[in-house]
Amino acid sequence: MTIDNLHNLFLEYPTVCTDTRKIKKNSIFFALTGENFNGNKFALKAIENGAEYAIIDEEEYMVSDKTILVNNVLKTLQELSEYHRNHCTAKIIALTGSNGKTTTKELINSVLSKKYQTIATEGNLNNHIGVPLTLLKITPNTEIAIVEMGANHLGEIEFLCKIAKPDYGYITNFGKAHLEGFGGIEGVIKGKSELYNHLISGKKNIFLNGDDPIQKEKLGNYIKKIGFSAHNQKYYIITLQDSSPFISLQFENTIVNTQLIGNYNFTNCCAAILIGKYFNIPLNDIRSAIEEYNPKNNRSQIINKNGHHVILDAYNANPSSMKVALENFYNIDRENKILFLGDMFELGKYAEVEHQAIVDLITKLKFEKVFLIGENFHKTNSTFTKLKSYDDLREALKSIILKNNTILIKGSRGMALERILDFL
Ligand code: ATP
Ligand code: MG
Repeated sequence: MTIDNLHNLFLEYPTVCTDTRKIKKNSIFFALTGENFNGNKFALKAIENGAEYAIIDEEEYMVSDKTILVNNVLKTLQELSEYHRNHCTAKIIALTGSNGKTTTKELINSVLSKKYQTIATEGNLNNHIGVPLTLLKITPNTEIAIVEMGANHLGEIEFLCKIAKPDYGYITNFGKAHLEGFGGIEGVIKGKSELYNHLISGKKNIFLNGDDPIQKEKLGNYIKKIGFSAHNQKYYIITLQDSSPFISLQFENTIVNTQLIGNYNFTNCCAAILIGKYFNIPLNDIRSAIEEYNPKNNRSQIINKNGHHVILDAYNANPSSMKVALENFYNIDRENKILFLGDMFELGKYAEVEHQAIVDLITKLKFEKVFLIGENFHKTNSTFTKLKSYDDLREALKSIILKNNTILIKGSRGMALERILDFL
């Protein structure tokens, strides 16, 4: 089947499913294959559960006239999404960066949806599968699509840009994340800049955090950049008013009181304000959109539990986000501060030095109690309580009574440190 024909079929059944446990009626099922599963095996189930067609790439699973055989299901999904994108009228804003993509995406969507029909990446579906799935959510009514792009190696953003062909782009930051895959910070900068390269070569617009020296240098005299900056005015001046602990900011005599903590969220909000202004969203709507946004899924969430005041930032961690989270925690005006920090993954040869750097920072900042969890933190040179695994921590916590503490919980996803909440 040609992509053209497949796209016609998709227009008739414009819902795509990849998981037989969440099949929607009249959808098209794409039988993706991963390391531990073969989607082809579920084609029949998908059809039984309501899918109109199943796209497969293994002939033996041609079980009914509703199965469509292609060479490679993933490639077909990507080609279909690219074709769909090429035939849609929506403007596309792409977001990448080491930290803050999902938060910024949610904020931008919250702002733009005040005036436009928008779609945005669902949750964190930001990779070679997630980006195509996002693009396939675009309908003829969609005016703006906000697409999060993640990467852990070079070439990935370039590939995603080729499919999504963004009209606008924003890079949250260049941080120390996925150092293993990128081979160091230079690789990170190069990898994330693939978005800029794409936009520059197409003479498209770039939204810019003018306070970030690397980004400023990267873009040089490129004229289609639209910026914000507290210090060097490019376009809008937005200032941080307060951050104890929720941040509030000011622009054009409007005060925005957010439900977000951490100074790092200031730039995320600035991006949403800037983009909202660019797309002519009324000031008051920008304010309410940002004020309404309440982070979920363990991303800098505030939880009060049994007298404890907990900042749950257990969604993920890398040296950059760990550092800003610690500095922010230090600045919160509260007593009895306890840290639960879990290992940062995907650092490769940088793991030792980056974990030690975090330990050195904690030593300098001084907290009431510190628990370091994981193999990497266990190897560091420090006097803090070091536990090899979450199970060890669980044992240790049985004999420790914590009362009315202010607690920061942060670690890589694989550490799943949100489990600590059960002990508080
Ligand atoms: P992922 O790579 O998992 O998709 P992401 O880039 O989407 O992550 P978020 O999920 O928005 O990032 O935020 C994850 C964490 O990163 C936050 O809880 C916070 O600790 C940190 N963070 C958020 N924004 C920034 C920022 N602008 N600069 C540095 N760190 C940030
Ligand atoms: Mg994300």
